[in-house]
Amino acid sequence: MTSPATAPLHDPTGDPAPGSTTEVKTTTCYMCACRCGIRVHLRDSGQGPQVRYIEGNPDHPLNKGILCAKGSSGIMKQYSPARLTQPLKRKAGTERGSGQYEPISWDETFLILEKRLSHLRATDPKKFALFTGRDQMQALTGLFARQFGTPNYAAHGGFCSVNMAAGMIYTIGGSFWEFGGPDLERAKLFVMIGTAEDHHSNPMKAMLSKFKRNGGRFIAINPIRTGYSAIADEWIPIRPGTDGALIMALIRELITLGLYDRDFVTRYTNAGQLVNQDEASDDFGMMMRNPEGDVINPLRHHNFMWWDREQGKPVADHAEGSDPRLFGEYAMPDGTPVKPAFQLLEERVRSCTPEWAEEITGVPAARIRALAHEMGVMARDQSIELPIAWTDFWGRKHKSVKGNPVAFHAMRGLAAHSNGFQSIRALSILMSLLGTIDRPGGFRHKAPYPRAVPPNARPPKGPASIKPNTPLDAPPLGWVETPADLCVDDQGQPVRIDKGFSWEYPFSAHGLMHNVITNAWRGDPYPIDTLMLFMANMAWNSTMNTSEVRKMLVDKREDGEYKIPFIVVCDAFQSETTAFADLILPDTTYLERHDAMSMLDRPISEYDGPCDSVRVPVLPPLGQCKPFQEVLVELAGRLHLPAFINADGGRKYKGYTDFIVNYETAPGSGIGFLTGWRGKNGDQSLRGEPNPKQWEQYAANNCVHHYSMPPEHQYMRNWNRGYLEWAQKVGLRRDLDPITIHIYSEFMQRFRLAAQGKGQGRQPPEALRDRVATYFDPLPFWYEPLEVQSSDKAAYPLAAVTQRPMAMYHSWDSQNPWLRQIHSHNFLFVNPKTAQAQGIEDGGWMWVESQWGKVRCLCRYSEAVEPGTVWTWNAIGKSKGAWSLTDKADESEKGFLLNHLISEELTSANGGKVSNADPITGQAGWYDVRVRIRAAAKDEAAQSWPQFSSTPALPGTAQTVPRWRAWFAGISK
Ligand code: SF4
Repeated sequence: MTSPATAPLHDPTGDPAPGSTTEVKTTTCYMCACRCGIRVHLRDSGQGPQVRYIEGNPDHPLNKGILCAKGSSGIMKQYSPARLTQPLKRKAGTERGSGQYEPISWDETFLILEKRLSHLRATDPKKFALFTGRDQMQALTGLFARQFGTPNYAAHGGFCSVNMAAGMIYTIGGSFWEFGGPDLERAKLFVMIGTAEDHHSNPMKAMLSKFKRNGGRFIAINPIRTGYSAIADEWIPIRPGTDGALIMALIRELITLGLYDRDFVTRYTNAGQLVNQDEASDDFGMMMRNPEGDVINPLRHHNFMWWDREQGKPVADHAEGSDPRLFGEYAMPDGTPVKPAFQLLEERVRSCTPEWAEEITGVPAARIRALAHEMGVMARDQSIELPIAWTDFWGRKHKSVKGNPVAFHAMRGLAAHSNGFQSIRALSILMSLLGTIDRPGGFRHKAPYPRAVPPNARPPKGPASIKPNTPLDAPPLGWVETPADLCVDDQGQPVRIDKGFSWEYPFSAHGLMHNVITNAWRGDPYPIDTLMLFMANMAWNSTMNTSEVRKMLVDKREDGEYKIPFIVVCDAFQSETTAFADLILPDTTYLERHDAMSMLDRPISEYDGPCDSVRVPVLPPLGQCKPFQEVLVELAGRLHLPAFINADGGRKYKGYTDFIVNYETAPGSGIGFLTGWRGKNGDQSLRGEPNPKQWEQYAANNCVHHYSMPPEHQYMRNWNRGYLEWAQKVGLRRDLDPITIHIYSEFMQRFRLAAQGKGQGRQPPEALRDRVATYFDPLPFWYEPLEVQSSDKAAYPLAAVTQRPMAMYHSWDSQNPWLRQIHSHNFLFVNPKTAQAQGIEDGGWMWVESQWGKVRCLCRYSEAVEPGTVWTWNAIGKSKGAWSLTDKADESEKGFLLNHLISEELTSANGGKVSNADPITGQAGWYDVRVRIRAAAKDEAAQSWPQFSSTPALPGTAQTVPRWRAWFAGISK
């Protein structure tokens, strides 16, 4: 007789079991953030529908049927033993962190939350903080926070790539990934900087494959050659945090060689605009304005001045027949000295020679010169012309759309440094000099971008915005344009718990999630009461200084109360963070819920037009799991948040699906979360009355709505009158004004002037004036990342960075047995020369030390990393017991986190604490740490360090891993 252990596996090619039914349902993947379309094959043989197979949806515009390893493995996420299945409350009398919980009902859960949150809302709403991880519902979570009345809200962007978003949006009005990308259909040269295989994964792979087959040349600039870089025609290794210096040198070479697109630069950027050079003036560094010019938006006049090359005098910018000087210095009729912005850029980069950049970056000067030459000549000599007529903002008719086929892509490798904002400003300017913005073969926007520079939403202006039982007067996150927009008090001190939008990080458009726990623990700027975390593993890989942050979560005041009194965690899995919760809310998986990837948030638009998508449930929720969206809508009703109740006080929405269909940005605006099948009959796109059948229509159409614009609206959208008028009509833009590229940033200069006490109304506190004046430079510049500046580089000679593993999405897949077969532990990858110099063997145990801490890990030799850098995959190392892994799992025995070596704070110039972040945006400086390495002693334990005590399994999670290990494509009996 065959024992159960030796029974043959189910034969996936065999006939379905007698009586079983099969079905294929369409929804959207969420094994990473890319949102590919999927078809889920289900079989029901009496035990309810079960997933048998997931395939890519060939009819989906984003992935066109392609599915990656993660997407295929969604089946194992669905049936993970780490799934939470019921609401849990920390047992009375037990210590936080010990993992002792009791199941409670949703009724009790809501009563606990309602009682606590209604008290906070009625007394001091900012004592409630809501921070979320890589969720895809920030339009809803942000609305909830605003309606609650707390400014203490943000999602993962501040510790991910806010520098990329802000650096580009403050320059060209758009950004990479969701909001724009390279046009690899027509590009001939593609330069990828600081990108592993992560953002825009499947679409990028498909585009790259086609690009290479078409003979395109692909250059990867990165300290590490992995992921996409592995298939590059050329890898240019660079030291981490120095990309800005390389880009400054490339700009210098293009200007010196005259290899920039002069026509594009003069017409579409502010390069020709005259800048006040009177140092004694309060307007020093500001653009000269034409008092009779076109004032469309009082904050963003389009009434600037050019120095006309023929007439030799100042004229209104874009005056018919005029052509501006880009170089020189002039005097206005009243004697004010002025220079064109481009002259100032040339002066800025004059000293950024390739030799200067070689010293900083490690890239040979000759290579830098050749690269600049190649880009410039390719852009100039291989230009593209499409027979598409269009009209520009100033009424000029163009018979064709032109393009220069040099495309770029960059992400976190450029962004996650404390000098990232200025490096990304430099990249945006380089792309603009080559004439590649929203043109064929270059960078293309995706709706809702391009947006105004900066976009119109402003954060709350200070303490007056926060009132009991009252929504905030502005969304909690926004775009700062002047010092008056900062969220500070009368003394200039921060109002948010993460100090976002303060003088320390004025343009922190996505908040500073990595400082929330530390600030709340310290009570700086004030203590909070309730911290709600959603999908954010803040006790492990989503925090810097992990060991200390875990102590902060359990630290108590003198009166015995926790310093952060109440922590609510909503997640689908038992992560490291659930152990620190007072209340755990079990979320659903992506296969069990509705979701809207909304135009109000981060849609999946294509270059040719707006595109949004949804998820619909293909399975019922497991146990008592409830989508967080439903939790928020229910709580909003119970708390009587105005946007969620009717005039009579009754609930406006029956639940999340009803909310998504019926919510409008303003009464009767016709603009809601979804753009497809609007209007009573579902026959309108983008704008229209709510349609009660909207979900069904998405479900019947591959869960995606794609609106393709006419070709004459698809390019040059910053200045394309037809597009701009249409975009205003459908609500994508507020104002009808051109979106000028800001080679020179007046917004930055306003902050510098404020720091100098010159006429901006507000001045930073004295201790921050030098910081603001230094980093708020209206032109890009390269500086050493702040942590590097304060590191002993002789003692810690190496840079250490992480990448997201391509087979897993951060920590999400540690419980996935299919993906664990690819990675169950991580190595520190070290160039053999570097490792051998320290006597470290390939595969041997080693120590990595920074000024903040140390870890013991395994070494792997790699030629694919420049010798001054070491790196590892992020989030594979696990704490024992988390994710339902056994205590002997590789993830905790051999895996490690680099986070232990990275501090969330640095010492400021005046000896205080400041975030380890970009001083402009607050972007977490993940990649700035300096380390040294040494071999572990032979008699040391063969185990990674530090280790943490094991977390007990939570009630409701599967305690064992039974037959599903043998599950191949069918349930074994
Ligand atoms: S790239 Fe892979 S994991 Fe990400 S959404 Fe697409 S199929 Fe899913």
